[in-house]
Amino acid sequence: MVKLAMVVHPDTEVSPMHFDRDAAERDFSSHAPGYWKDQSGLKWDCWQWQLQNRVNSLDSLERHLRLTREERSGILLSGNKLAMAITPHFLNLIDRDDPDCPIRRQVVPRIEETVEAECEMADPCGEDGEMPVPGLVHRYPDRVNFLVTDRCASYCRYCTRSRVVSGAGHQHLETEFEAAFRYLETHGEVRDVLLSGGDPLLFSDAKLERILRRLRSIPHIEFVRIGTRVPIFLPQRITPELCAMLRQFHPLFISIHTNHPRELTTEVKQALERLADAGIPLGNQSVLLRGVNDRLEVMKVLVQKLLRCRVRPYYLYQMDLILGSSHLRVPVSRGLEIIEGLRGHTTGYAIPTYVIDAPGGGGKVPIHPETIVQRGDEGIIVRNYEGKLFEYPGTSTELAAFTGVRDAVPADF
Ligand code: SF4
Repeated sequence: MVKLAMVVHPDTEVSPMHFDRDAAERDFSSHAPGYWKDQSGLKWDCWQWQLQNRVNSLDSLERHLRLTREERSGILLSGNKLAMAITPHFLNLIDRDDPDCPIRRQVVPRIEETVEAECEMADPCGEDGEMPVPGLVHRYPDRVNFLVTDRCASYCRYCTRSRVVSGAGHQHLETEFEAAFRYLETHGEVRDVLLSGGDPLLFSDAKLERILRRLRSIPHIEFVRIGTRVPIFLPQRITPELCAMLRQFHPLFISIHTNHPRELTTEVKQALERLADAGIPLGNQSVLLRGVNDRLEVMKVLVQKLLRCRVRPYYLYQMDLILGSSHLRVPVSRGLEIIEGLRGHTTGYAIPTYVIDAPGGGGKVPIHPETIVQRGDEGIIVRNYEGKLFEYPGTSTELAAFTGVRDAVPADF
């Protein structure tokens, strides 16, 4: 049998992680009205009020947070790249005095965004070259990604589409809706449409309904998905009326995006429950981010809390090679350690698939910790979550000779 080398994970630098609220963050709490407690006439539960009162300037952010020099410079420069906007709901999750707060690192610009590494790209997933119609990405054989808007409730500093999202950059998203629908009508191989952007749930109910109805009128489209961070940034948007509208279009799945357990507040949990009660299967996509969720303890609380919200952790993304993102990048070896630390140690449903979106347009590639220690005609030797080795025979006739647990890989295997 060919001897395979064991994968050894080199020691990696562990970023400082300020997570001093472990116990509190295991549970759901409401942070409202927080920084807005002295303001009269609050319409906190109105999603339009939340959008109108987003914090989107240096002055307005400094009214709430004690900013560092790096953040101040980053905010002043963010207007040339990806705008800053933070809903009051989400801003309330940020520590006023802690520059390493994991929520703050996701949405407050820093000067490091102006440092561009050689490996970084404006379009790291190669989407621009895969659009048969502006705004419609057709990379995989049977499914498309329909970029329906360039606006989000808040802007993530590591956004894969920061080149087009928010309207602040040099490139603009000019989705041609009618041409996209015609393309889909004439491409019978497309059975799955993902609505994305930007965030489709920022559209009014009526506009979103028109898009969904048009897609549903195409007989070969079997399945529609929506990718959204609105339930996290703006849970007030998940109204009973929105849920009633969405439930007409089953099978409809929603992928949310959350990275840290503090994001799962009482309001978010209730919003996710409304979607689940409308019969919508929910999955979560996280991005592995330095100083946010690059510790096993944090990720474990996140995935377990997601299950309590009826959301299945779906993907954990290695961050794309976006321009100016190296201060948030985590080594792949750290991601593998986290997955290895979850597998076998918590519910299988809680464990996301760790993926790299292959730079330049190769698509998603799952990456796994090494569990096959040896493989050959005689069978395989696998390593379980405790590090113990087990042998499984190659054919059923060898079952009689099955030896089960091994202390080490035998020399003659
Ligand atoms: S919500 Fe999604 S599309 Fe919008 S900025 Fe964040 S990662 Fe980008």
